Amino acid sequence: MKKPNIILILVDAMRARSLGCYGYDNGGTRTIDRLASQGVLYENCFTCSNASDPALTSMMSGMLTRSHGILHHSFEVNAKELKTFNDKEVRLVQEVLKENGYGTYGLDFLARWHMRGYDYYPNIKIDRTKRKKRLNQLSRLFGAVGQKAFFKKIQRSKVVRRLVGGFDSYLNDEEITEKAVEIISQNTDPYFLFVHYWGVHKSMSASLDDRSIDSYDRAIEQVDKYIEQIADAAGEDTVMVILGDHGESLGEHDIWFDHHGLYDPTLHIPLILSGGSVPAGKRVNGLVSITDVFSTILSMAEIDYLGKTDSIDLSKCFDEEKVPIRDYIFAEENYYQDKVCLRTGQFKFIKTVGRDICEMCNVRHGESIELYDLVKDPGESRNIASSEHSTVAEFEEQLKELIGS
Ligand SMILES: [Zn+2]
Ligand SMILES: [Zn+2]
Repeated sequence: MKKPNIILILVDAMRARSLGCYGYDNGGTRTIDRLASQGVLYENCFTCSNASDPALTSMMSGMLTRSHGILHHSFEVNAKELKTFNDKEVRLVQEVLKENGYGTYGLDFLARWHMRGYDYYPNIKIDRTKRKKRLNQLSRLFGAVGQKAFFKKIQRSKVVRRLVGGFDSYLNDEEITEKAVEIISQNTDPYFLFVHYWGVHKSMSASLDDRSIDSYDRAIEQVDKYIEQIADAAGEDTVMVILGDHGESLGEHDIWFDHHGLYDPTLHIPLILSGGSVPAGKRVNGLVSITDVFSTILSMAEIDYLGKTDSIDLSKCFDEEKVPIRDYIFAEENYYQDKVCLRTGQFKFIKTVGRDICEMCNVRHGESIELYDLVKDPGESRNIASSEHSTVAEFEEQLKELIGS
């Protein structure tokens, strides 16, 4: 049988709860909702990191952050993390697909290790080494006068971007869509196309005054229109996978228009599969992880992958009856604060393992140990850690087994 074409669409910072198919009333997600109704929607998919570099690496490798080694984002990814990543000989999904006869196209801009294994990847003009050096110099300068936190806040501003050499030389979402349609129309079967949309994230990188729930919703609406163009060009035989790398906090827990914190607005991501042999009209309730994208794509491409991963092939559980899929989800953050978390169907356990004052907001978000009963308290507003000793002890034990702390 002919292997299917596969398109993986990642909408950066798109949270599940802002999409119509996840119950939101004010969204503009006509196409995503339609694809969800024609395919399988995962009600409970979670990321394992709230920053793009580690989350993307997990999605593409099927490994948790601590397994592949990339813990930080952007210029904070250090030499030790890169060494771990290289020593572990991490395999990315496009590399495996390429070895198995797929044409591979990546419309992404994160470059570095992310660009491995593609036949086509945009020519990124940013000199990241130089940029990193300049950002470090500036950070030290601000640090010397006690303003490191302030610098972290402004480091993505236009002024700083210009100073360090710019972040903006990649394709914008419209250009990405044009290129995607061009690649699809070339018809080099079978192909794997990765499309990384940045517009939703960018709407939150604008100046504080320009950020709002409405601007976030409208940015998703715009991306939905681009996805429509891709879906129309690809046709129904093409497998489409749509998800976010992490969500966004739009004021929940006093985290305004950013994706730090390990609460559900940031961790709960949409995951939708449609086209090809994916059955129509299914909603799967079991817990799944961003890492599961790896094995699912390889399985849809009929490739047996024997390497070690933290990934589950979700095409084996398209049926609702086979839930629960995972017992728990592990996630962590290392950007503005250092926390780890375990989430089951009922509980969320969050533990501070380093910086407890958020470097962006200059406040402490939550206690050092947090426990929420998500069934009674889906908004994660009542920390019950001090009264539920045995549950906390169980999570502590599980965490120790998993990460040794
Ligand atoms: Zn991201
Ligand atoms: Zn904060």
